[in-house]
Amino acid sequence: MKAKDFNCIVIGSGIGGMSVAAILAKAGRRVLLLEQHYIPGGYTHTFKRKEYEWDVGLHYIGQVQKKDSFIRKAFDYISDGQLKWVALDDIYDRAIFGQEEFEFVNGRAPQKAQLKKYFPEPKDQIAIEKYFALLDEVDHIGSSYYAEKVLPRIVRKLIGPLLQKKVFHYSDQTTLSVLKSITDNPKLIGVLTAQYGDYGLPPAKSSFYMHAMVANHYMEGAAYPVGGAAALAQNIISVIKKNDGQLITRAKVDQIIVENNVAKGVLLENGQAYYADKIISNTGIVNTFTDLLSPAVQHQHQLEKKLLKIKPAVAHLALNIGCNASSKSLHLPKCNYWIFPAEYDHDKNQAAFDSLDAPLPVIFVSFPSAKDPEWEKRHPNTSTVEIITLVPYHWFSKWEDTEWMNRGADYDDVKEKLSQKLLSMFLEVMPQLKGKIDYYELSTPLSTKKFTNHLKGEIYGLEHSPERFRQRFLRPETPIRKLYLTGQDVFMASVTGGMMGGILTASSILRKNVFRQINNSTY
Ligand SMILES: Cc1cc2nc3c(=O)[nH]c(=O)nc-3n(C[C@H](O)[C@H](O)[C@H](O)COP(=O)(O)OP(=O)(O)OC[C@H]3O[C@@H](n4cnc5c(N)ncnc54)[C@H](O)[C@@H]3O)c2cc1C
Repeated sequence: MKAKDFNCIVIGSGIGGMSVAAILAKAGRRVLLLEQHYIPGGYTHTFKRKEYEWDVGLHYIGQVQKKDSFIRKAFDYISDGQLKWVALDDIYDRAIFGQEEFEFVNGRAPQKAQLKKYFPEPKDQIAIEKYFALLDEVDHIGSSYYAEKVLPRIVRKLIGPLLQKKVFHYSDQTTLSVLKSITDNPKLIGVLTAQYGDYGLPPAKSSFYMHAMVANHYMEGAAYPVGGAAALAQNIISVIKKNDGQLITRAKVDQIIVENNVAKGVLLENGQAYYADKIISNTGIVNTFTDLLSPAVQHQHQLEKKLLKIKPAVAHLALNIGCNASSKSLHLPKCNYWIFPAEYDHDKNQAAFDSLDAPLPVIFVSFPSAKDPEWEKRHPNTSTVEIITLVPYHWFSKWEDTEWMNRGADYDDVKEKLSQKLLSMFLEVMPQLKGKIDYYELSTPLSTKKFTNHLKGEIYGLEHSPERFRQRFLRPETPIRKLYLTGQDVFMASVTGGMMGGILTASSILRKNVFRQINNSTY
């Protein structure tokens, strides 16, 4: 392919890559989207075994139920209004600590009232009021922080610190330190942070800004795409193709071609080269700066020094379960479960999880077949369950050089032991599934690495620690001209965060406020 064939090459078809590709294609740019996997979508892809199908990294999304929310408008914009959503139950998350259960309900006022019912002591009621006031404050301060990321260099030098100051006030503090400033009740802290798995770090390590963003994101409840997570790639890629764009799967980029500090094209593992005016990487900043750029380019910009300031997010295990009975007959709910030991200190639980034999600090359980109204049509009389927990990557690194499906008997033994551990914690809460499980398969951090190319099996790209939000190089522009980053690393983890990263990158490339354009669009 010659330079003139494409204006932009996007490496990686995660939600970030698909979003920027769709926006650029709709703006008249000829886009080539390259994906290393044989299924597009990144963490939004789904996979099948026997008659079952599971999501990988999309279980629920907030703020899409209302047609006029910015996030809904953005999903409508990149899918030409084709994506449809279905609301989860009014109780969309249930947190279980031993024998006690706490419900997360739709809506700010009902959620506040619910918490006050669980914590009737006057000092807890005051803390809950203070907590919601903090969430409200954080809800309104993000736009200038993110605007800074697309400003021309000279302008951001002048006013950048001012634009980011308000976010820094919250992002510099850990979730635990902020919550301890309003309450000394560890049980209340444990319940308020029960969704910490959504950002991967327990309260003493996570940035309060990230915690508040996620809590706000789900405050009005949650939804799921009709047709499952695969509906995202189906509908967004059709928009890219309709606008003259092209997708190639099984196309692993080996190197970004850089000449005189200008990105010119990409070289695939199979030796094929493609050229374009702009190169956009959705593969994550660490992948891009270490794996895809030559050592000379890395050294020229001291990229390794920058990467020392950020850490990869934790990895995860996912147990994908198939049952040969419908969701209805098994009473599977349209909500998620967060199941913990009978101990409210998440940091303590995480610290105690120091080996594969130690008790699990948390499991997240979701039921794709119960959420999707089209499931029964596609997979009659079946249902699915996904159980996820967080694990360090290094527990699996000794099998790094083995082949998928043939990693050895010791690996298979560990997988089976872990599967039983996840199952037994889950079946205590949902005993009706005992004897109904027809199939299960555990994915480990090595599966994540193989299928999404996250080098340390990262569940959310980078750690969402206080330090992360200080790093000004987590932006679309890179020190290499015409090379851009996109996806979760330039915004924050979550499907919505990845999409917002795509919008930021499109704004930077098109030199216009794509956020405003989307806000003014109607579908
Ligand atoms: C288990 C799990 C559960 C989650 N649950 C939720 C949830 O319920 N709700 C929510 O909002 N978020 C959830 N998330 C987070 C969310 O899925 C991610 O934050 C988001 O999808 C990341 O999007 P991305 O585009 O930045 O990256 P990715 O989706 O990781 O996309 C990167 C793409 O680049 C491709 N790639 C990498 N290297 C190359 C290369 N060299 N050449 C070509 N292609 C390459 C990869 O194959 C991949 O397709 C979850 C994540 C996980 C893992």
